[in-house]
Amino acid sequence: MILVCPACTAKNRVETDQLVNQPICGRCQDMLIPQHSIVLNEQNFSAFIQYSDLPVVIDLWADWCGPCKAMAPHFEHVASQYTNVIFAKINTEENPRLSQAFNIRSIPTLVFMNKTTELARVSGALKATELKQWVDQSLTKL
Ligand SMILES: [Zn+2]
Repeated sequence: MILVCPACTAKNRVETDQLVNQPICGRCQDMLIPQHSIVLNEQNFSAFIQYSDLPVVIDLWADWCGPCKAMAPHFEHVASQYTNVIFAKINTEENPRLSQAFNIRSIPTLVFMNKTTELARVSGALKATELKQWVDQSLTKL
């Protein structure tokens, strides 16, 4: 499958059975499936989302949003538990066009994407157990 490097957006071919072995980017040597969330923005979003063969859970958040900040450690905790899902954050303030494209009305909003298709969405802060449950449920829609 193709994994897009979160650091340099290079496309890397990785065997499915290698996902658990912390594959690294052939170009910049960064981790392709980091144990933490990655940052998507208006510069790297389309390159990442259209080529990544792994589904992507996106947390749309903002600096002034208390519930977003409360959820952040839960999001990071769950991100560290999956090698078959990429966890990404989009700062809605810094990326108004993406925020508009996702038609975001409240934050935090979580969107589960498979390539350019939205498979699930939930608004409001989730705790780690709730988030994990939602991710697992969304994975069944693949
Ligand atoms: Zn790279």
